[in-house]
Amino acid sequence: DTQALVDLVTSRLRDIPDFPEPGVVFKDVTPLLADGEAFSAVVRDMAERRRGTVDLVAGIEARGFIFGAAVAHELGIGFVPVRKAGKLPGRTRGVSYDLEYGSATIEIHEDSFVGGERVLVVDDVLATGGTAAATCELLEGSNATVVAFEALIELAFLHGRDRLPGRDVHTTIVVG
Ligand code: AMP
Repeated sequence: DTQALVDLVTSRLRDIPDFPEPGVVFKDVTPLLADGEAFSAVVRDMAERRRGTVDLVAGIEARGFIFGAAVAHELGIGFVPVRKAGKLPGRTRGVSYDLEYGSATIEIHEDSFVGGERVLVVDDVLATGGTAAATCELLEGSNATVVAFEALIELAFLHGRDRLPGRDVHTTIVVG
């Protein structure tokens, strides 16, 4: 059930204070990934919520690749990597967005979508929501339809959901 999954996930996460900079508590998912039962339960839960409603999964670099690719495989559908600038080899389309200090750019291949594909966006952590919002903007500017967003962990105190108004957002555990 839901509480059992929440308890399992919570027991397999590790907080690393002051990483990558002072004041940030980093949510480390590597213990969960190393536990076959927990990793599999998380992936199956995300996949079953979306089965039959999506054509592709888009995963956000880097940990969104791990969960997103597994969800795509579970559903028997394809996967699109949303990458940091300069990593994709083909012709790309990108969007820049503001971070607390500075800015970031994410990219996809410009031919990732033919048009009208229903896409599930996956990441590990929903923090400020800036990355998720930029991803939705990038995909929808490339003729895809973002039907939902899934993340393992939501940092509620950062109000990331407010950056995704009107969207179907689900997170496995909510902290803060
Ligand atoms: P944001 O754009 O603020 O929602 O940040 C989301 C991205 O940054 C995700 O790709 C996360 O992997 C990463 N991230 C942000 N905050 C944390 C955190 N406290 N622990 C782990 N990853 C984080």
